[in-house]
Amino acid sequence: MLLSIQELEEKKISFDGVYEPGKLDFSESGVTQVTPLHAAGQAELLENTGGEVRVTGQITVTMEADCDRCLAKARFDLDAPFDLFYEPNSAVEGEVEIAIDAGQAEIGFYMGAGIELEEILQEQVLLMLPMHRLCSEACQGICPICGKNRNESSCDCSAAPGDDRWSGLKQFKVG
Ligand SMILES: [Zn+2]
Ligand SMILES: [Zn+2]
Repeated sequence: MLLSIQELEEKKISFDGVYEPGKLDFSESGVTQVTPLHAAGQAELLENTGGEVRVTGQITVTMEADCDRCLAKARFDLDAPFDLFYEPNSAVEGEVEIAIDAGQAEIGFYMGAGIELEEILQEQVLLMLPMHRLCSEACQGICPICGKNRNESSCDCSAAPGDDRWSGLKQFKVG
C-alpha cells in the first residue's frame, strides 16, 4: 500500500490491515514471521514543512529467530507503537548539514510518489526485536567444548575439580 503524497495532500490516510506470513519480506533478516501481522494507524502530511509526512501506528505480530546463544528457535511477541517522520529526499539535497530535531524519534526520507507502508512495517518489526535474541533470559547456550545444548542436557565439560586438564593451570596460579 502506497501512502501517496498526492492523496495525503487532500486528507489523512488511515490503514488497518493484516499481513499473512510471506506478504512482507524478512528473507534477508534472519527472522521469520509466525503469525499474521496486524498494523493499524494513520499517515498525515504536516502543514508548512515542505512535505514532511508523519506515520503513526501499532504493530502486532509474533516473530521467530535463532537464539543467539543456543541457536534454537526463539519467539518474540511484538505489540508496539511507532511514530515516524519522513521528509522528501529533495529537501536534503545540497544541504551540508542534516538537522536532527532531538524531539523527534526518527526521520526517514522518501522519494517520488510516496512511502510504501510495507517497507515501513518491515523496518519497524526489525527495530522492535531485541538486540540480543534469546529463547529465554536463562538460556544456557551451547557448550563450547562438546557442542551440546545445555538447556536440553548437561555435560561434564566444565572444569570439574580434579580434572587433569586444569591442574596445571591451578599450580601455575598458586605458584
Ligand atoms: Zn537459547
Ligand atoms: Zn560440553
